[in-house]
Amino acid sequence: MKTMNELGVPVPTHRAHVIRPLKEVSLEQRERALRETEYNMFSFPADLLVLDYLSDSGTTAMSDLQWAALFHGDESYGRNKGYYVLLDTIRDTFERGDQPREAIKLILSGEKDVETLMDKLYLTADEGGFVNGGQHQLSRPNAFITPQGRAAEHLLFSTIREVLDEMNGPGKEYWIPNNGHFDTTGANIAANGIEPVNMFQPGVLDPFPYEKMDRENPFKGDMDLEKLESFIVEKGRENIPVIYLTVTNNTVAGQPVSLANIKAVHGIAKKYRIPLFFDACRFAENAAFIKQFEKGYEKRSIRSIVQEMFSYADGFSISLKKDGLSNIGGGLFIRDRGDFVQRFSTKNEDVGVRLKEKQIVWFGNDSYGALSGRDIMALAVGIHEVVDETYLYGRIGQTRLLARELAAAGVPVVLPAGGHAVYIDMDRFFEGTDMRIGDFGGVGFTIELLRHYGIRACELGPFAFEWDQRNEEQRKGILNLVRFAIPRNAYSREHIDYTVAAVVELYKNRHKIPKVKITRGAELRLRHFQTGLKPVY
Ligand SMILES: *Cc1c(COP(=O)(O)O)cnc(C)c1O
Repeated sequence: MKTMNELGVPVPTHRAHVIRPLKEVSLEQRERALRETEYNMFSFPADLLVLDYLSDSGTTAMSDLQWAALFHGDESYGRNKGYYVLLDTIRDTFERGDQPREAIKLILSGEKDVETLMDKLYLTADEGGFVNGGQHQLSRPNAFITPQGRAAEHLLFSTIREVLDEMNGPGKEYWIPNNGHFDTTGANIAANGIEPVNMFQPGVLDPFPYEKMDRENPFKGDMDLEKLESFIVEKGRENIPVIYLTVTNNTVAGQPVSLANIKAVHGIAKKYRIPLFFDACRFAENAAFIKQFEKGYEKRSIRSIVQEMFSYADGFSISLKKDGLSNIGGGLFIRDRGDFVQRFSTKNEDVGVRLKEKQIVWFGNDSYGALSGRDIMALAVGIHEVVDETYLYGRIGQTRLLARELAAAGVPVVLPAGGHAVYIDMDRFFEGTDMRIGDFGGVGFTIELLRHYGIRACELGPFAFEWDQRNEEQRKGILNLVRFAIPRNAYSREHIDYTVAAVVELYKNRHKIPKVKITRGAELRLRHFQTGLKPVY
């Protein structure tokens, strides 16, 4: 008899204990709601949907342990206990590899011994890593909790701009390269007068056989190394404040970045003495890809791979709403006395102190960063849970399942599937029709998918990335994609089946999908969140 792992179907990894019944909404009702929300996906009432793939951000179903941890939340203004738990969880996850201390267990198990609590949690004095402890965090702040990833980005890029202006005088040009800027990252950089530059690896949209997804992965999220180095030489290292690497690469169809590429980017960053930051939103999914597909890492634990990945980073910004970690949270973490601190501290001011002052003004005291103490506890549990291999393979496996079924039915999905989402290549989708890139066919597709089937997806292409407002060179950095981001632990096989059936039906009728006009706000930044639209039937 076959073992459970040999049956050829995934072994279930969890059961549901709470459910949310869905409303029965008619086509006419959805049409009315679409009209009255200007056909903008972000503005459509979620309660009227059947399935919501708009984002995996914060949409996770939390685990029973996470819900239990909420009760341990401490809402104190100064140094709530969750603050210590979260900071130590960050050290455990990004620095300690296979030797996590799991100080969180002291709180969850109700430890009463005061000496133990002080020695292992409240008065630890770590330094030299991403999270200083005790007095070191006071004199050299380097860990900043924020409500979301974009708040951490805002904190970082506004500070970079401020320091550069003080050092070099105002109004100078700067560039930040990335293997793929996320929309908020690019927008936060641009809002501070710095130009975000994408350095996708060539061949992102090259075909890949879906049958091979369980056996091979080309790490299409990698950064284009040649482009990076020639760009630094062209612009001058002094005009590139940091290099960014997004793991996994959300803008490039959620594709993973290999450790080989991380090391090589680190090598270039060191050579030119430019700090290297990670956009670490899906670090655990990225580590799972490395374990499964990169030579030499098969036997390594997820924790030790994460440790190695981050040993090459000088700092990272992170959305803690991703990777299924939690419903809310983010942060900015910077290597103590590292390249960034040296480059951006002035004679009179440590850059960490500058960051902390902004954090306090914008998000509250540094020990909660605009999060509730409850959420901080759930978050800390989530970070410990996300490095679990069984969970990660289940998560990535579900994404792969959706991609495989769509691909098998002929829908042009980007292959192999990334970690959190499935992306449809809209250029190929509309091949043979009269849809042109400036017609926003991807948006038309999302409108029809919602109108007919109550499924919400998100265009991340010429509409979201403002193709019509860009020059020739910038247009090269825009892929024409529609994203289905899968909320963690929320959907099962029947949801996937329904999605595949709906998308395949629309694909068959693709010549009937409407072109879309922007009726309001074409010049707005991050316009996919706010613009008014109209399909032309
Ligand atoms: C979501 C995301 C962000 C921004 O994080 P928020 O918590 O949504 O503000 C930044 N980078 C990437 C790659 C993301 O996926």
